[in-house]
Amino acid sequence: MKPFLVALVLFLAVPAHAETLLINGTIVAPDQVFQNGWLAIEDGKIRSVTPSRPDVKGARELVTKDIVFPGFVDLHNHPLYGIFPRWRPGKTYANRYQWRGDAGYLRAIQNPEGKLVTQHFCDMDTYVELQALMGGTTSILGLFEPADTPKVEPCVAGLARNLDWASGFHGPGVGKERIANVLGVRPNDIRLSPQAMEMVKTGDYDLIAVHLAEGRRDDAESKAEFAQLKALGLLSEKTAVIHGGGLTEANFAELAKTGGAFIWSPRSNFELYGETADVAAAVRQKVRIALAPDWSPTGSMNMLAELNYAKTVSDRDFDRLFSSKYLFEMATVVPARIARIDDKVGSLKPGLFADVFLLRGDASRPYDALVGAKPQDVTLTLVSGVPIYGTDEHLTKLGATGAEKVTVCGETRTAALPLAGLTARLQKALAGESLQLGPLAECRR
Ligand SMILES: [Zn+2]
Repeated sequence: MKPFLVALVLFLAVPAHAETLLINGTIVAPDQVFQNGWLAIEDGKIRSVTPSRPDVKGARELVTKDIVFPGFVDLHNHPLYGIFPRWRPGKTYANRYQWRGDAGYLRAIQNPEGKLVTQHFCDMDTYVELQALMGGTTSILGLFEPADTPKVEPCVAGLARNLDWASGFHGPGVGKERIANVLGVRPNDIRLSPQAMEMVKTGDYDLIAVHLAEGRRDDAESKAEFAQLKALGLLSEKTAVIHGGGLTEANFAELAKTGGAFIWSPRSNFELYGETADVAAAVRQKVRIALAPDWSPTGSMNMLAELNYAKTVSDRDFDRLFSSKYLFEMATVVPARIARIDDKVGSLKPGLFADVFLLRGDASRPYDALVGAKPQDVTLTLVSGVPIYGTDEHLTKLGATGAEKVTVCGETRTAALPLAGLTARLQKALAGESLQLGPLAECRR
C-alpha cells in the first residue's frame, strides 16, 4: 500500500483496502451506462462493472440513486492559486505577458503566492486539492513550478493524484513521474526540474503540457509562438498545447498531424482575453482536445465548474459544437489518453484505479446532469477506492469516520482532513497580506 494511502486510511479508520466495496447507482462505463448497476472495488482498483449485484461475500455496500462517474483528469491547473478569491481586473488583455506584469495582479495574486508558498505549502496544497476533489477531480497536473521548488514536498502525496509529482502510479515516493508541465516557450517560462530536463533530453517521457499562444486570436505575440514551439523541438505526439488562443487552423492541422493534443480552458480565456481559442478549427482538424480549468482566479474552481462553463460557450459561441457526452470525455478518458495513463485512470473499467465520484442528478440523462451539476451535487469522491469527500451518509456507509464537516452551497459535506485548523491558518496568513481566503466552492443558482 502506498504511504499516502496508509496515512489517509489511518485518519479515516477505513479498512478500504481490506474489504471489497460495492457501489450501486447509474454506472457510466466506457461503452454503456448501467442503470441500477454495480461497481465493485477491491485493493484500490475496479474489480468489476456489472448490470446486477456481483456475488461478493462480506462486502461493504453503498446503494444509491446517484450517477457514478470516473474521476476527472485535469491536465491544466495551477492549483496553489486556489487559495485566492476570484481576480477581477475589470478589463481584458491581448496576451498573458500583459496581465502577468499588471500591478494589480502582482499585488493581489502573484506576490502573495510567492511569499505564502514558502511557509504554508502543505496547508495550501491540502485546501486546493480539496477544491478539486469536491468537483470530482482525482488527477491533477501543475501543482508548482519546479524551478522555484526543486525539492518535492512529501505532503503533496495523498488526496488527488499529482500527475507531475506524486501520481501513485510509480510506487511509493514522489518525483518519479513521466509527465511535465511547462509555463511557456519564452526562456523565462521553460523551467523544468533536473529530472524533467533529463526526461526531455532522452525522449523517455509520456507528456509535456506547454502553455502556448495564450492571448487573443489576432495578437501578434501569441501568433508567433507556434513557430517557437517547433524551433525548440517541442512539437511531437507527446506534446499538449495549453490555451492556444493565437493558433490558426493551419497550426491545428499541424498539431493533429504530429499527434499532439490541445487543452482548452475557455473560462480563463474569456475572463482574461474576452474570447477563446478557435476550438471549432481544432475539432475540424481532428485534434485530440481535453478540457481543463486553468486556475480559480480567472478560470473555474474545478473541472465540474469548467464543464458547465464549456457547455455554455459551446452552445452560445460554437453552434453546439460539443455534446454533453463529448465534454464528459474531454474531462476523463481523452486527457487520460493524452497523458498515456488511460490504463490506470479516466474510465470505469476493471483493472483501473478506483478513482470515482458520485453525482446527484437525473440518472436518465447522466451526461446532461454532469454538465449542469452544481457543487453541492457531488455526493462522494474516492481515490484508489478511499473515500475522501462526500455526504455523511455515504461516507458512513463506507465505514469512514473521524472527518471534518464543510458547508457547500448550503449543504453539509464531510471531508477527510483536519480542515478547521488549516483554514484558520490560511486565513491568518492571507490577512497578513490584506487578502481573504477564497471559497472552497463557487455556488450557482
Ligand atoms: Zn496555465
